[in-house]
Order: sequence, then structure tokens, then C-alpha cells
Amino acid sequence: MGSSLGLYHFLIQLGHSVTVISPTNWAAFLKWMPGANVVVDFEFSKEVAIKFLREADLLFCLDFNVLHRTKNMEPVLEELQCTKILIDHHEQPQEDYFTYGISNTAKSSTSEMVFDFITESGFDDKINVTIAECLYTGVMTDTGSFRFSSTTANVHRMVARLKETGFNHTLVHESIFDSFLENRVRFIGYCLLNRMEVLYEYNTAIMSVSKNDLLRFYIKTGDTEGLVNQLLSIQGIKFGALVIDRDEERKWSFRSKGSFDVNTFAREHFEGGGHFNAAGGHTNDSLDATVWKFKKTLKQYEEQLQ
Ligand code: 5GP
Repeated sequence: MGSSLGLYHFLIQLGHSVTVISPTNWAAFLKWMPGANVVVDFEFSKEVAIKFLREADLLFCLDFNVLHRTKNMEPVLEELQCTKILIDHHEQPQEDYFTYGISNTAKSSTSEMVFDFITESGFDDKINVTIAECLYTGVMTDTGSFRFSSTTANVHRMVARLKETGFNHTLVHESIFDSFLENRVRFIGYCLLNRMEVLYEYNTAIMSVSKNDLLRFYIKTGDTEGLVNQLLSIQGIKFGALVIDRDEERKWSFRSKGSFDVNTFAREHFEGGGHFNAAGGHTNDSLDATVWKFKKTLKQYEEQLQ
């Protein structure tokens, strides 16, 4: 949402007709973002989204690099004839699909890449408060509030430039992190107390959340965001894994510290991918079966996790 809306607010200044389409619904904590109210939710407004896609001259694909990440949008994207431009920082892009592209895994976020795209095209003067709010949201969330190793001097220079527009970064942090309902905070407490297992022999912590847990606490899209990071806050833990029993699949989130490569782990065992220290995956197995497989798989990595 950060990179897409940032690019949106830039392109409309140049007189383009732009539509942002999201493959699915998005978290409530992003609804305040400027332009979020006109984003088309593919799942909710399929016909409208397909019409925009088929009429487009240019398709910018931001923050995903393989079509299956767009879920039900994939078959529609596959048949489009227009020029497709990739801007993304994940590992192993599906290169044959894109006409042009920038894929740089060293970048902190796609928002940083959109910032580079705008400024290196000679349009630094178009960076306004609105674009700053969007790009800051993207880079701040993707760097774990500027703590991950991808937070380079360039990221801080970009933030300095965004701050010059006068946007209020405290409000952005509050909108993202302090806008949850009571049930979500209690849900986090419940999961930490009842759903977390620490496997000290592998320096790994795992959390599995059942469908009943989600229903009991009225959990919605976005409410589980950041939960996996809690696992890495335990001293000595190098690998955190969270699995959530979603309607259509069991969705894994993997996080690591240091030299344990969760992108490869996710690709090899859970049909996923992402980054070296942050990745995800999924399976159609039951919750118990996938947790069992995870623990069994972990044995192969005992040495790497020491
Ligand atoms: P999260 O755990 O926050 O959902 O995802 C962490 C990172 O892994 C994100 O950059 C996300 O794009 C990527 N990711 C999550 N799930 C998958 C997946 O199933 N396949 C791939 N290729 N990447 C994923």
C-alpha cells in the first residue's frame, strides 16, 4: 500500500490516469492512508478490477515478483498484453513475465525503490506531504521501524528528504501501531501465553494459532501482523515461526536473526519465499500436521541454528 499509493500520487501529478488494485483486502490500520479509499479490492470488486487491468497501457507490479502471490488475480495478469514493469525487492523474480523491471534484494522496501524511481527520473520536486506519508509508511513497516540490516544510510537520507515536506511521522506511527481494538491486544496476550512453544535445542520459537482462536477474539485481516516478531524477542532465539489456520490454507510466517536463511527454508518446505530473514509460506495440511512437519524438518537444521 505504501509503495503503490506513493507511486499513484506521483503519477497523477504527471497527468496519468491511475488505478491501484490490491489482490485482497488490506489491514484496517492502513485505511487512513491517502488514496486508500479509492484502491480497488480485486476480491471484492472483481469485474471493475478486471476492466481496469484490461484497459491499462502500463501495469506496475509493486512489492511482489511472482504472479501466484496475487492469488485469484494470477490468471487475469497472465493474459494481459500491456507493458509490465516490475519494482520489487524480493528474491528470485519471475523474470519472463515482466517487460521492464528493477529487482534489487538489497533495498529495504519497494517504497525506497519508488522514491529512487521518482528522484532519479528528475522529479524530486514532486515529492509532497502525501507521497511522503505513503513512502514513509512503506519503508518504516518493512524495516521494522528502521532496525533491520536493510536500513542503509540511503534509507535515512530518503527519510530526511521526506521529512522536509513537513509530514507528521508520529501520526504515521500512531496510525499503524496504536489503532487496534482491545480484542487484538488480548489476542496477542492469549497467544503468547497459550500458543507459543520455545524449542531451545534449536534456538527456535513457534506459535500456532487455530481457527477457533481467530473466531474467539474476532480477529480480522492485519490483526496478526507483527505477531511473529514477538518470538525473536526471546534471548537466544534465532528462528521464529508462526502458523495461522486461515480459511483457505495454513499460512506460515518465518523470521530469523543472523545467518539462518528463511527464504530457502520457506521455498524448500512450505511452498513459499520472501527475504533472507523474513519469509512466508503456506500448505493445505491441517494445523497439527503442518506443525508436526515443521518440527520434523527442524532437525535437519540443528547445526545451522546453533
Ligand atoms: P509475512 O510473514 O509478513 O507474511 O511475509 C514476510 C515476507 O515473505 C514478505 O516479504 C512476503 O512478501 C513474503 N512472503 C510471504 N508469504 C509468501 C509466500 O507464500 N511466497 C512467497 N514467495 N513469498 C512470501
